[in-house]
Amino acid sequence: MRKILVWFYLFVNVSGYAQNFEIQKYGTRITAADLKENLAILASDAMEGRETGKRGQKMAAAFIKAHFEELGLKGPVNGDYYQVFDLYTTRPGESYVKVGEQRFNNFTDITYYGNNDSGGEISLPLIFAGNGSEEALRQVDIKDKAIFLLTGMNFPTNESLRSLREKGAKMIFISHTESKADFNKVSNQIKSFYGPRDLTLRKPADNATLPGVFVVSPLMSEKFFGASREQLSKIIADGYKKNALKKIKQADIKYRTSSGVKPIKSENVLGFLEGSDKKDELLIITAHYDHVGIKPNGEGDRIHNGADDDGSGTVAVMELAKVFSQAKQDGKGPRRSILFMLVTAEEKGLLGSDYYTQNPVFPLDKTVVNLNIDMIGRRDPQHSNSDPYVYIIGADKLSTELNEISEAANKKYTNLIFDYTYNDVNHPERLYYRSDHWNFARKNIPIIFYFDGIHEDYHKPSDEIEKIDFDLLTKRTQCIFYTAWEIANRDERIVSDKQ
Ligand SMILES: [Zn+2]
Repeated sequence: MRKILVWFYLFVNVSGYAQNFEIQKYGTRITAADLKENLAILASDAMEGRETGKRGQKMAAAFIKAHFEELGLKGPVNGDYYQVFDLYTTRPGESYVKVGEQRFNNFTDITYYGNNDSGGEISLPLIFAGNGSEEALRQVDIKDKAIFLLTGMNFPTNESLRSLREKGAKMIFISHTESKADFNKVSNQIKSFYGPRDLTLRKPADNATLPGVFVVSPLMSEKFFGASREQLSKIIADGYKKNALKKIKQADIKYRTSSGVKPIKSENVLGFLEGSDKKDELLIITAHYDHVGIKPNGEGDRIHNGADDDGSGTVAVMELAKVFSQAKQDGKGPRRSILFMLVTAEEKGLLGSDYYTQNPVFPLDKTVVNLNIDMIGRRDPQHSNSDPYVYIIGADKLSTELNEISEAANKKYTNLIFDYTYNDVNHPERLYYRSDHWNFARKNIPIIFYFDGIHEDYHKPSDEIEKIDFDLLTKRTQCIFYTAWEIANRDERIVSDKQ
């Protein structure tokens, strides 16, 4: 009896030992050399800073897709690896005004303020309508015409513009600045409203049904009517005496306005590894592969290579995909399925993960966890000489078990210092809300966000591969691997018990 018991005890122990050995066999296949090889490509100048919708982002997507294909992962989006969707940019479109042979392009002496597409070149008579007051409108018929208003620095109100349109004005030109310098200021302000780098997931509820207005420089009264701004001002100041408005000859103009709202396509890249006996349940491991692109102005290096942000997370996910795939090939694949997802448009406001969680490829209620990796390749100033560390954010927010698993896996295999400084949702940096995991957390899916801290090269062209600590990147990736392995293979799925 005793003998058998001892033997049985030994057997259990040995199998436990064998299992640890097995896990570590795959964990140690996460190597600095692999991570470096992939990052050297993703963070190279050839990728042009991987800005959403741009060529570099598409190249990075193709690179990740090829990696997933090579590993034998499945493309889960109707057989494809790409989840493609529309984002909207509000970059100003082509707009111009022609007077005779002369053409004025947008942001020169004319600035179009609106989102309407005129659908081609429009020809209209342009008349001077004073300051648009009722008194002025008694002298001119504005129906089916373009009108030119001369006002003080107070821009006409929306109500007054609407009223002029109701009376039949097809387009409104406004001259409200005394000098070209003042006009340029206004013009630049309008330009900045378009937020040339901003993208949205939802189509902006724009005022596309309204024709918008042209704001013009003081020079344009001369171009349109052969009369200076001063001369026209005098007519208003004199109270439109002697039908003065009628004496200003109408101009024949042509113009074109283009919608500032344009759809652009971008893509999340998804690689799916099917689980064994619990394959309906899913882990999602994410990082964002986009970055902020090329700075429009400035000298020196203008390409933001984003080696740490988030090249480091991207190569970590690629490496995790590799080792889990190898385990599966050896018959040691995870019991639950794993979706490796590199999302786009994080830098534009977590849009890729927002899109996925609104249009999930796998049911969200079967999604057990999201492990999100955003910047894990560097040290921040607070840890310049510390033992290997990582910031853990959000692990305890929705699931008690998840935090316990995370702690236990690290203790057992990697022994990183877990820094919880940013785990406080009230921390001024608000990191719990600042990367893609947040879109999963808001759907009540337990998450962990892995992060290395805020360093001096954050969102700068100097976020380069030379500054990546590959040993640390390897250890952190291994830490995530052991945590994922446990979540994927344990008997019971982790639950969200802290809703
Ligand atoms: Zn990032």
